[in-house]
Amino acid sequence: MTEPALDFVIATLEKIRESSDRAPRASRRTLAQLQTANPVAASLLATPKSDEGGWEAHALPAGQRLQRGALNKAELLEPIRERVCACTKCAHLACSRTQTVFGVGNPDADLMFIGEAPGVDEDRQGEPFVGRAGQLLTRILKAMNFTREDVYIANILKCRPDTPPGSFGNRAPTPTEMQTCRPYLVEQINVIEPKVLVALGAVAVEGLLGMRGAMRELRGRWHAYNNIPLMITYHPAYLLRNQAPSEKRKVWEDMLQVLERLDQPITDRQRNYFL
Ligand code: SF4
Repeated sequence: MTEPALDFVIATLEKIRESSDRAPRASRRTLAQLQTANPVAASLLATPKSDEGGWEAHALPAGQRLQRGALNKAELLEPIRERVCACTKCAHLACSRTQTVFGVGNPDADLMFIGEAPGVDEDRQGEPFVGRAGQLLTRILKAMNFTREDVYIANILKCRPDTPPGSFGNRAPTPTEMQTCRPYLVEQINVIEPKVLVALGAVAVEGLLGMRGAMRELRGRWHAYNNIPLMITYHPAYLLRNQAPSEKRKVWEDMLQVLERLDQPITDRQRNYFL
């Protein structure tokens, strides 16, 4: 069932519950199907008791509240994470991955970073940006006075792009892979509702905006995704390949713009990095 359809089902069930003193009734089979698709919707139903007759109401799993509107963002992300975990839409990646890499950080974050796809380290650890490029991103965050726990970090692709046996390194996702996986990222952004998005590298830009272009022209300017301000900057892996202070300064200037957009205080020391 699609998310809009689920939203409609939940809203209808809530209305029935509000206008009646008993829960809407459904068969055990329907309940089982809905529990798989969405436990929140299932919790609004009553089903026939197996032996002594009558109807039995069902509670949400521990930690989740009854009204969907009252669920916090972490709780709303959980069913998406579960669907990603079980996803086999790209059969070749589902076979080759160690695990899916959903995203990490604060579901209430004002700032969300988007990269391209898990690499070998991320595939192993199940977390985005944990390899060398990820460590550099963590240092950039620290210079911004943030920790990884303050922001949210996710990729366009949730599975590591496969590589031929015996080969080293990572490969970029294909347009088809990005298109297939993108809806999960869209759902994550819809739940988190960050004030500012940062796209790291050309692949993230293509995956999110469907736009190709030279990074030297795209970066450093404000773009928008669904009315959310979007800053494009170089992927940290680029800075590992090109250690020139001038390139580091460009990324840092992009991050200064992000801090300004978030109304974060900026010290003189921060303004002068890599000058
Ligand atoms: S890359 Fe995304 S769409 Fe493809 S199998 Fe992995 S989770 Fe599913």
